[in-house]
Amino acid sequence: MPGGKTHDTINIAVLTVVLAGIFYLTMWNVNELAVRYLDIYTIAVFSIFYLFATFFLSPDLDIESKPYKRWKMFRILWWPYKVIFKHRGLSHNPIIGPLSIVINLALIVTLLLLLMGVELHQGHLRFIVAATIGMVLSMEVHIISDFLVSKMKSIF
Ligand SMILES: [Zn+2]
Repeated sequence: MPGGKTHDTINIAVLTVVLAGIFYLTMWNVNELAVRYLDIYTIAVFSIFYLFATFFLSPDLDIESKPYKRWKMFRILWWPYKVIFKHRGLSHNPIIGPLSIVINLALIVTLLLLLMGVELHQGHLRFIVAATIGMVLSMEVHIISDFLVSKMKSIF
């Protein structure tokens, strides 16, 4: 499986390609749906959360990985996750992996918002969806890279 640095590089390369695709679809009005739903704010939220997930929410939170250590003193928030999930077990399942991480994060964020007295309303939905898609895509890219690299290693 690729190391932390390789994962970061692959993930950023994929984001660049995705953004180029979005740019192509919206800039020249190639796709009407894309033009309607992908305004600059939605794309920005998507990209920021994609990068956030790449550096902080990798499926490798199941070990003492770089993303795990980047949480510094807040790594305690992911300690239960690390204990529950065996490395490259369910955390690297294409459905359960991202789902479990997003749910864990949602619990943390909801608790924080409640503590700060922030109320969510309908208008936030589009950004929540964009953020979630960004995070899930980043984790899927990680899982696929792990899969492809271990496949290649078994061939050579
Ligand atoms: Zn991994």
